[in-house]
Amino acid sequence: MNTIYETVDPADIDMTVIRKAGDIVSDGGLVAFPTETVYGLGGDALNPESSRKIYEAKGRPSDNPLIVHIAEFDSIYDIAADVPLEAKLLADKFWPGPLTMIFGRKPSVPLETTGGLDTVAVRFPSHPVAREFIKASGGFVAAPSANISGRPSPTSGRHVMEDMDGRIEMIIDSGECSIGLESTIIDLTSGVPMILRPGYVSERMLKSVLGEVAKDPAVFGTAVSGQPPRAPGMKYRHYAPRGVMTIVSGDADDVISYIRGKIDSRTGGERIGVLACSQDVPGYEGADIVVDMGRTDNEIETASRLYDALRRCDGENIDVIYSEEFDTPELGMAIMNRLIRAAGHNIIKV
Ligand code: AMP
Ligand code: MG
Repeated sequence: MNTIYETVDPADIDMTVIRKAGDIVSDGGLVAFPTETVYGLGGDALNPESSRKIYEAKGRPSDNPLIVHIAEFDSIYDIAADVPLEAKLLADKFWPGPLTMIFGRKPSVPLETTGGLDTVAVRFPSHPVAREFIKASGGFVAAPSANISGRPSPTSGRHVMEDMDGRIEMIIDSGECSIGLESTIIDLTSGVPMILRPGYVSERMLKSVLGEVAKDPAVFGTAVSGQPPRAPGMKYRHYAPRGVMTIVSGDADDVISYIRGKIDSRTGGERIGVLACSQDVPGYEGADIVVDMGRTDNEIETASRLYDALRRCDGENIDVIYSEEFDTPELGMAIMNRLIRAAGHNIIKV
């Protein structure tokens, strides 16, 4: 398939491109588009054939449900069976924005879109290009992240090209995503609202609106034994670079000297990459690549650089990756959730 590649300036949106993209989706095709979190791989959420194509293009298991993206609040009444008061409170505060809410599913949403579940995940993104694209596509766009399943999510048009060129009808490139981590997911279908995936909208922010909030024990490390996560995607290997990755946790000096030791003592020809905060970058001289993850007091910078850092290591054919821990106050939970999965839970305390 020949993939059409278009650049759209969010500050001056070319509606000819948006209309063309909308027509592709309405005709059952797929278009990758920018959002404030990561790039999405969009198809018509109400067309089962489109959802099947999304799974195929990503190589994603079809029991892993898609998020339905809308461009106005009232659209939720067409797809969600019950909309509790909490949803309105959360929408007032965080929509449009990086929050996904889970509701009961209306029959208008095919089971192909929800991975067979009787619930539906809904998000109203804030990115101006995403909003216009969703409207032009009929108002309901099913979209997972626009990466090959298992790889780091795309946060730039170039990342999408790497994974999706030749697999979908069109890519809309609007530069880098401002947040760079997937949306927070909150389940509103039973009892106390429960966070199923951490993201930019933090536990503290959710509590400020809802009072009480629970966290899925299978995702936040408190599960008793082998209980599966309630967001099905969280059970899969995710966000993974090709190299073997280790997170090194401890005081800054100890972490630097541990990783330095690994760099200095390597014997084979393995290529080593390091993910480090700006302050520590000079400490890792001798590594094949040192990715500057931003200053520790700038969490959003670290978040938005994470997936690009992992892809850069792949681009440099890195065999072994060491990462510092980025356990920052507000976004640390979301950043570390991705990093730990990228490292396959490989963490060393020094
Ligand atoms: P992605 O679009 O790649 O960010 O993945 C979307 C994720 O949202 C899935 O992998 C699931 O973990 C989660 N999700 C989507 N729909 C539901 C749902 N109905 N119930 C629980 N989790 C969901
Ligand atoms: Mg994804």
